[in-house]
Amino acid sequence: MSNIIVQKYGGTSVANVERIEAVADKVKACRDLGNSIVVVVSAMSGETNRIVKMAKQIDPNPTPRELDVAMATGEQVTIALLTIALEARGVSARSYTGSQLKMLTDSSHNKARILNIDAKKVEEDLESGKVIVVAGFQGVDEQGNITTLGRGGSDTSAVAIAAALKADECQIYTDVDGVYTTDPRVVPTARRMDRITFEEMLEMASLGSKVLQIRAVEFAGKYSVPLRVLSSFEDGDGTLITFEDEEMEDVIISGIAFQRDEAKLTVRGVPDTPGVASKILLAISDRNIEVDMIVQNIANDGTTDFTFTVHRNDYEQALNALQQVGEELTAREVVGDEKIAKLSLVGVGMRSHAGIASKMFEVLAQEGVNIQMISTSEIKISVIIDEKYLELAVRALHDAFELEQDK
Ligand code: ASP
Ligand code: MG
Repeated sequence: MSNIIVQKYGGTSVANVERIEAVADKVKACRDLGNSIVVVVSAMSGETNRIVKMAKQIDPNPTPRELDVAMATGEQVTIALLTIALEARGVSARSYTGSQLKMLTDSSHNKARILNIDAKKVEEDLESGKVIVVAGFQGVDEQGNITTLGRGGSDTSAVAIAAALKADECQIYTDVDGVYTTDPRVVPTARRMDRITFEEMLEMASLGSKVLQIRAVEFAGKYSVPLRVLSSFEDGDGTLITFEDEEMEDVIISGIAFQRDEAKLTVRGVPDTPGVASKILLAISDRNIEVDMIVQNIANDGTTDFTFTVHRNDYEQALNALQQVGEELTAREVVGDEKIAKLSLVGVGMRSHAGIASKMFEVLAQEGVNIQMISTSEIKISVIIDEKYLELAVRALHDAFELEQDK
């Protein structure tokens, strides 16, 4: 049988009629090579925002079910237009909405999870030589209600369909030509990676390399779907996100991720007794604030200091919460800093190589950058530093670990 390829085109790739026609040309070229193709599309760029804005103009908290009905229309337009463009090129094609395809999800409107896909229909169409064009971002629940998967959800739709069809590759076409060793706006010599592992991509994505929806990467890793990120505007092989192999372990550091908008909070001098950490964090989670890094110092004189980071938008609220709980816990003081950034070195090769942390810290020291917090995992070392040194630190580390060189 021919190769099955799922191609996903994001909003900028289908932003207008000309671009939709360009996508049709690309799809036709891939089909002419003998591949079976399923195309998943987003709404035209800006369209989902426009719909949400209209709904919120009427009611700041629109009924989630109706918001889904409205939002799902964006993708319905693009699947039809792309199918028309394919047919106009003599390519037999057929469009499907999420509900026509029985993309079954749970009933959590606006953030539904995919439960099952009925691949039979798609397989039949593919066998008859048709290109299938599927609306991303949407599904249907048991009761037949239209659901959506959360913003950026088309990536997840594509991966889910690829998994259901056991596709050979899921290609995510976007406006960048792959995943880079770090943000090229900060380091102009940043290099596009040919390959990266699912694990590394998850670290890079959650740390701010917003190329792909994190959920889609998780899904692809879980169901073993090779994922390729590539540009819909330029030719090139993009970046393949795949399983670890021996060769990939030779590359010690794959990339540097960073996040600017972080803030740090510290409660000083709380009793070193069971239950204190949970009380502090409960005060934060009760307000629906997400905590990132957590550090507790070794106790001294029966008291200890407790520090954690949150998104900068949550800083004021977290500080208020902490002042209240700090009083209850007889803390010596509560302090914070909202001008910090997080920087992480990521690489599966770290597992089998020693000395990465010491080299990283040495490079930062040479640049006079003070490290405020450190946390590590098997494939990552993260530090919190003063925001004003972030770019300097990223550049120095990119240089020191020679990430600009193809390995
Ligand atoms: N159109 C949806 C959004 O803007 C889904 C997607 O583009 O992935 O979030
Ligand atoms: Mg998108």
